[in-house]
Amino acid sequence: MNSFSQFDLPEAIHKALKALDYKEPTPVQTQAIPAALSGKDIIATAQTGTGKTAAFSIPIATQLLTKNDTTALVIAPTRELAQQIEATWRGLTKFCPELRVACIMGGASYSGQLKQLARRPRLIIATPGRLVDHLQQRTVNMSKVSFLVLDEADRMLDMGFAPQLNQIMRMLPKTRQTLLFSATWENSLDQLSKKYLNQPVRIAVGATSRAAGTIEQTTIFTNHREKNDVLLDELNSTEGSVLIFVRTKIRTDKLARYLYSFGLKVGCIHGGRTQGQRNTALASFRDGKVRILVATDVAARGIDVADIAHVINYDLPQVPEDYIHRIGRTGRAGTTGKALSLLTPEDRQQWSDIAKFLKKTGSTIPTPRKIVEKVRLSPVAEDASQRRAQRG
Ligand code: AMP
Repeated sequence: MNSFSQFDLPEAIHKALKALDYKEPTPVQTQAIPAALSGKDIIATAQTGTGKTAAFSIPIATQLLTKNDTTALVIAPTRELAQQIEATWRGLTKFCPELRVACIMGGASYSGQLKQLARRPRLIIATPGRLVDHLQQRTVNMSKVSFLVLDEADRMLDMGFAPQLNQIMRMLPKTRQTLLFSATWENSLDQLSKKYLNQPVRIAVGATSRAAGTIEQTTIFTNHREKNDVLLDELNSTEGSVLIFVRTKIRTDKLARYLYSFGLKVGCIHGGRTQGQRNTALASFRDGKVRILVATDVAARGIDVADIAHVINYDLPQVPEDYIHRIGRTGRAGTTGKALSLLTPEDRQQWSDIAKFLKKTGSTIPTPRKIVEKVRLSPVAEDASQRRAQRG
């Protein structure tokens, strides 16, 4: 049976779980708790809402209770998330008063934080900027940190916290256990994990367990040469807003420029653009001034735009779960939506992994369909078809 009793946890934690009415572990907890208890580094792809906070808090609290001279550090991108983590921690350690916590975040008073730090907390939850301030002023001691959690790591990189993270890492003991949580997976996270994690165990769990039935999912098999033409035809044969997912920042810029060169109104968001540029692109997309938004996973994650008519996977996601997150941008709250994935021969393995995952979660498997040819003539569609014809 899947219950918390399968894990070797202290009685005080079992009691707290009961008080919180956590009856059974969530999928990310089932995988992360035993791995973390055995001392392994972890990379977990899990969104907020999956129970990820308890997934790292339970093993950390357990280890802190057995290793008296150690402390833990959780770094989170925002004040709101830091506060949520603190609330979960307090609930889970309700019967362990010795596991004091300090929350060190921007926008809160220094003096209050100094008081919390003076009480020798066993867990520090911090946002990167404020933690660096404390480190520079030597008001926080990191020498006993044995457990480090990087929560919403993708968002931290996305918000430009890489320099602060590097500064913090330099101050931490080399021998430690590191757990990295992220909602999505991007190349930049590979570098971070290679630099700071030691042979991590990979865990991937989605917040949404299956694709909504209201989304009409299709695929078009094409190749690199034709991919852009197929996309242009698709854009010209449909109406309504379109969110296009692309793998990297460079590819995102390139595709946006390409579509723009055909006279299409396109916005573009990725981690390499300034917050101002992203806000402008997003506002134009939301207001309907721009019909198409080209984005990487990380940048698109926090966006809240209702009624996106189409999601197009120009590039497939790295992790199968992200497929469900991506297409979940359309067909919200019972409305119908369309999701198209463009597949090239190189995508064979990745697509087979996604299809297997969809099957496992009981989701509908997307239907393959043919290339749209001049469904609605426009200069752009005509141009694409002509170029295809010219190439033979
Ligand atoms: P999180 O993904 O950490 O933001 O957690 C989402 C919500 O799920 C929080 O309100 C938690 O209190 C709750 N939660 C976490 N684990 C469990 C569990 N095993 N059973 C029931 N609720 C849980």
